[in-house]
Amino acid sequence: MKADLHCHSHYSDGTQPISHLLARAITNQVTHLAITDHDCISGLHDIPDDLTGIAIIKGVEISCQWGKIEIHVVGLHIDPNHAGLIPLLESQQMARRRRVEMMDEKLTALGHDGLIEYLDGLPCVAYTRSHVANYLVEQGLCKNRQKSFKTHLGKGGKIYVPSQWCSLAEGVAAIRAAGGIAVLAHPGRYPLNKAKLASLVTAFETCGGEALEGSYPNIHPNAVIQMNMLARKYGLYLSAGSDFHDPEAKWTDIGKFPPLDPTCEINIWHHPQWRLLPLSSVP
Ligand code: AMP
Ligand code: MN
Ligand code: MN
Ligand code: MN
Repeated sequence: MKADLHCHSHYSDGTQPISHLLARAITNQVTHLAITDHDCISGLHDIPDDLTGIAIIKGVEISCQWGKIEIHVVGLHIDPNHAGLIPLLESQQMARRRRVEMMDEKLTALGHDGLIEYLDGLPCVAYTRSHVANYLVEQGLCKNRQKSFKTHLGKGGKIYVPSQWCSLAEGVAAIRAAGGIAVLAHPGRYPLNKAKLASLVTAFETCGGEALEGSYPNIHPNAVIQMNMLARKYGLYLSAGSDFHDPEAKWTDIGKFPPLDPTCEINIWHHPQWRLLPLSSVP
């Protein structure tokens, strides 16, 4: 079994359609793939019913506010039609749209119009700063995406607009209402020291979170050990995924990240809900 439980399509800030993600996963011998777009589930409707050779897990990645910090919560095995989830995602998508409109106003004031026209030409339904970064680079306003986050899109940047996300508790509750497993995404990527990260994991578990990502690309070996210890301490399962966005970004690929220890008894495939998967289609 090779499970990649975190990736993005062009409905959020991935560059590829669902068909590409599926083909790439099969080429890379991934047996279980979760599609987890930022605050949207449109891609889940593009998964063919008669797919064989791979099990697809319906997912989402919700941006949440926890104090002053933005936290990402992945939901796995969600029911995309559940009434508990859809309003929250619509509200997040509206917040994302409002944010890029405000960024467009700031950019126009700086003498550059056209951002909204550019965004409206994309297939995405959840607009992210990543799309705006691409626009800034295409227009020659920034040298590369990384720099655009520094000068324009990050806190204090020229067109920075604060985001309006749901709370951590609301994000986790919506995932759980829709029958999903809430997973704390890439815990090592938040600007938190060890004590603060432990507070986050405590808060997450208290809200109903059930797992955390114990592996993702470029994770430091010490962080793998730290995540494993945190998961055990707070009674959480371990998940893992590539967070794939773009085949042009050479350091990421579907299925490419340090694998979880296959013998570990808290891996997410030991979660009772994992048994609900259409495993019969997997070779
Ligand atoms: P948003 O959720 O709209 O704030 O956009 C965040 C997305 O932008 C993330 O999911 C990443 O894909 C991407 N991103 C965030 N920070 C950076 C960065 N420093 N350089 C490149 N991409 C980034
Ligand atoms: Mn992203
Ligand atoms: Mn994320
Ligand atoms: Mn992600």
